[in-house]
Amino acid sequence: RPAAPGEQIRMRVFAADDLSPAESTALLQRPIIDSEEIMGRVRPIVDAVRANGDAAVLEFTAKFDRVKLDHVVERAPFAVPDLPANVRAAIDQAYANVHKFHSAQLGADTCVETMPGVKCARFSRAIERVGLYVPGGTAVLPSSALMLGVPAQVAGCREIVLATPPRADGTIVPEVLYVAHKVGASAIVKAGGAQAIAAMAYGTETVPKVDKICGPGNQYVTAAKMLAQNDTAAMVSIDMPAGPSEVLVVADASSNPAYVASDLLSQAEHGPDSQVVLLAVGLNDLQLAAIENEVHAQASRLPRVDIVRQSIPKSFCLRVSSMQEAMQFSNAYGPEHLILHNDRAADYVADVINAGSVFVGPYSPESCGDYASGTNHTLPTYGFSKMYSGVNTGTFLKHITSQELTREGLANIGQTVMTLAEVEELEAHRNAVAIRLRDME
Ligand code: NAD
Repeated sequence: RPAAPGEQIRMRVFAADDLSPAESTALLQRPIIDSEEIMGRVRPIVDAVRANGDAAVLEFTAKFDRVKLDHVVERAPFAVPDLPANVRAAIDQAYANVHKFHSAQLGADTCVETMPGVKCARFSRAIERVGLYVPGGTAVLPSSALMLGVPAQVAGCREIVLATPPRADGTIVPEVLYVAHKVGASAIVKAGGAQAIAAMAYGTETVPKVDKICGPGNQYVTAAKMLAQNDTAAMVSIDMPAGPSEVLVVADASSNPAYVASDLLSQAEHGPDSQVVLLAVGLNDLQLAAIENEVHAQASRLPRVDIVRQSIPKSFCLRVSSMQEAMQFSNAYGPEHLILHNDRAADYVADVINAGSVFVGPYSPESCGDYASGTNHTLPTYGFSKMYSGVNTGTFLKHITSQELTREGLANIGQTVMTLAEVEELEAHRNAVAIRLRDME
């Protein structure tokens, strides 16, 4: 139940010692998403865009975004807007840091001689055409444009297409336009939701078809990405499944209650479905109350207090007795963001198995990673950090392997290959080696 105005805005509190195994497991679960219902709404939108192209995109933009446009795409070069100097400088700084960190991820090609005369290599090539979805329904999100556009640019993608819902007057958010210019985007699709994803997956008269679609978005965006990925006619891949944003904060007696509360709230203000978890390690009632009081006091001062009144009561604090227990729970939960607020936080990074991104120590708020430190903020939610990485330079690359054998190499490996081909009863495979070895005799 949301907190009523005037009522204390507080998380539910559980003690790990009092929970049955079933109750502990229940705390690890995210809210179930009714994907059938959403798919039912999204499928007709995707089908219509596929069949009718730009006309369908314009129609859905009029319907869902209440904006009447006469064209869907803006092409580069974009008219770069006049931004306040401090905003431009902040975007430039964030761009530089994200660029520096993602450039360092461009690994070297590998070449290994596995046997004398048998050389195997791996090299990377950028995915040629990528579509980046920058959400825009309820917020201005130039940071999402940076976090997707910079790695695509660093990877060397030939065509970068950005999609974002237009503003009420039909224009693009100026900060997003500036980022699109900086990352070298070739086109901006002025549409949001499932229609934008479908347009990039299938292409329309004016929207370029892309090979991979990345970026966060609401449930319509996510459903459309999954539909497109499963349709061989679209021939498109996606970055990862996405759900509401999450944070898990670990705090003990050494943590600053005000800092802890500020981090919990910076997640809680995202939306009513934000997942916020606090692991209180060995805190007594007084210490926990200090954090709870800070949460309420800071929340009450936020412009988005109405969202926080919904998200904080849905979130929870789990009292555990040791860091080992905390890390065990965190790894089982697999949070999108993990903030280690305790003394000697750096010592515990080695214990992290599942998390999207880790924030180490009291001076590393999630906000820095969200905007400007250099790491990416497009991260796996919903426990998918167990098997997915966040967006990174590799997201926009493919790895190709090659091999080159000398005569000597073929002589060295030939018998092994022929034996295995015989085991699999593939005579043509065996013969492709045998025919060459015979010539060498
Ligand atoms: P959005 O851009 O994802 O969606 C807006 C679009 O939804 C509209 O253009 C419209 O076309 C479509 N839509 C709205 N109502 C519809 C309906 N009834 N039927 C069909 N389509 C409809 O913007 P949003 O809604 O504000 O959502 C943004 C999401 O992105 C949030 O969930 C936010 O948490 C997430 N986000 C995540 C990150 C991250 O890195 N994890 C970053 C930024 C935003």
